[in-house]
Amino acid sequence: MPPSLEAEIHIIDGNTDTIPENPQADLIGISVITGCARPAYALADYYRARGIPVVLGGVHVTVLPGEALKHADSIVIGRGEHAWPELLGDFWRGRMQKVYREKPIRDHLLADVPPPRRDLQRKSAYMVPNTVQATRGCRHRCDFCMANAVWPRYLKRPVAEVVDEIRKIRSRNFAFNDVSLVEDIEFSKELFSAIAPLKKQWGALVTAEVLEDTSMLDLMAESGCVYLLVGFESGSQTVLRGISKSFNKALRYRDLIRSAQERGISIQGCFVFGFDHDGPDVFESTTELVQDLGIDIPRYSLYTPYPGTRLFARMQAEGRILSYNWDDYDTMHVVINPARMSPEELYCGFKWAYRRSFRMRNIVKRLRRADIRCAINFVGNLAYRNFIRRLDSDPIFARPFSTDDVGSPPAPGDWHLPGEERALSCLG
Ligand code: SF4
Repeated sequence: MPPSLEAEIHIIDGNTDTIPENPQADLIGISVITGCARPAYALADYYRARGIPVVLGGVHVTVLPGEALKHADSIVIGRGEHAWPELLGDFWRGRMQKVYREKPIRDHLLADVPPPRRDLQRKSAYMVPNTVQATRGCRHRCDFCMANAVWPRYLKRPVAEVVDEIRKIRSRNFAFNDVSLVEDIEFSKELFSAIAPLKKQWGALVTAEVLEDTSMLDLMAESGCVYLLVGFESGSQTVLRGISKSFNKALRYRDLIRSAQERGISIQGCFVFGFDHDGPDVFESTTELVQDLGIDIPRYSLYTPYPGTRLFARMQAEGRILSYNWDDYDTMHVVINPARMSPEELYCGFKWAYRRSFRMRNIVKRLRRADIRCAINFVGNLAYRNFIRRLDSDPIFARPFSTDDVGSPPAPGDWHLPGEERALSCLG
C-alpha cells in the first residue's frame, strides 16, 4: 500500500474471521485459490451489487482470468506485490483498469517485495502466524502441481531482504511458505547461513531429495530448522514415475527420514491416494508404510487435477473428471474417476487411512519415538485427530464429491482474457 494514499486497511481471513455483510470500504481485494473460488465469486458479486468495487487475484485467477473477470471490476494476474500499488494509484485517480499483470523479472531475482503488514494480522487465529517467502515457484514438474501454471519461472528474493524480514519477526518461530524451499543449493546455503545467527526456529516444505544432502541438513538444523513437510506422495516408484516425481526414491524414504530426525527435525510426510496405479490395497499398504517409516505427522490427500495442470488436461481428455465444482477441489474430495476402484471405494479408503493412522495407539507409538521434537509432533498429531472428527461428521465430507452440483468445465474463454487468443495458463 503506497503510504501516500493514507488508506486504512482491514485484512479478513475467510477461514478464521467473520466476513462483514456491510463493510465500509472503498475497494475490496479478494485472493482466490481454486477451492474457495465459488464463495469468493459469490462474495465479489454481493459486494459489487452494493456498489463496492472488487479486485480479484491469486492462483485461481491467474489460471482462469476470463472466469474471474466475470465477477470483478479488476483482476491481477500473477504476482501481485508490484502490480497492486499501481492498481491502487489508478483507483485513487479514478481510472482503475480491468486487468493488471505481474511486472517482468530479470535474472530470477524477485527484489523489493514489500514487507507484510504483520501488525494487521490477528495472530491468535493461527498455529504459526508468521510466514515468510524466500522463493517463488519450483523447478520440478509434478503432473498435479499448480505451481508451474502459476509461477512458470523459479524466482528468488535477495537473501538480505529475506533475512531482514525474519529479523523483524517478534516471535522466535516462523515458517517458510515456499512451495519448495530448497530448489537452488547455493541460494539455500547462503540463506540458512545468514539466518543461523538469528537463533530462530523454523519449518518449511521441501522435496525428499533435499534430505539426501547431509551437509544441507546439518546447515538447516544449525539455522533452526525443526520441522519439514515432505511430499513423499507414494511408496511405489512406478506411481512416482507416472506423476513425473521419480526424483523421489521410495526405497530411500526410511534413511532420509531418520537422517532428518537425528538432527532434531520433525517430518510431516504427505501421501496421496487415487493415482492410476493405486488399487484397493493401497490404503493398508500406505498406512503401514507410514507407521513403519517413523513419520512424525502423516498427512493424506486425494489426487486432484487443479486447473492449469497437466493432470487436469489429461483427465479432461480422458473424460474422467467427475466434478468441476471448485468447492470439491480441496484434495479431500474425489473429483476424478479412479482407474482401479470406484470413487466411493477411494473416498472410504482415504477416510479409513486417516482414522487408522491417527488411532491413539499409533499416535502414542509415533510420539514415543520422538524426543526433542515432541511438542511439534504432539500438537500436529492432535490437530489431525481433531480434523478426523470433522471428516466423519461434517456434511461437506459425507460424499466423495458434490453429486448435486458437479459444475461444468471451464469455457474456452475462461482460460484467457477477452480478445486474447493464447491461453494464459500452461494449457496454452
Ligand atoms: S509438487 Fe512440489 S516438487 Fe512437485 S512441482 Fe509442485 S512444488 Fe515442485
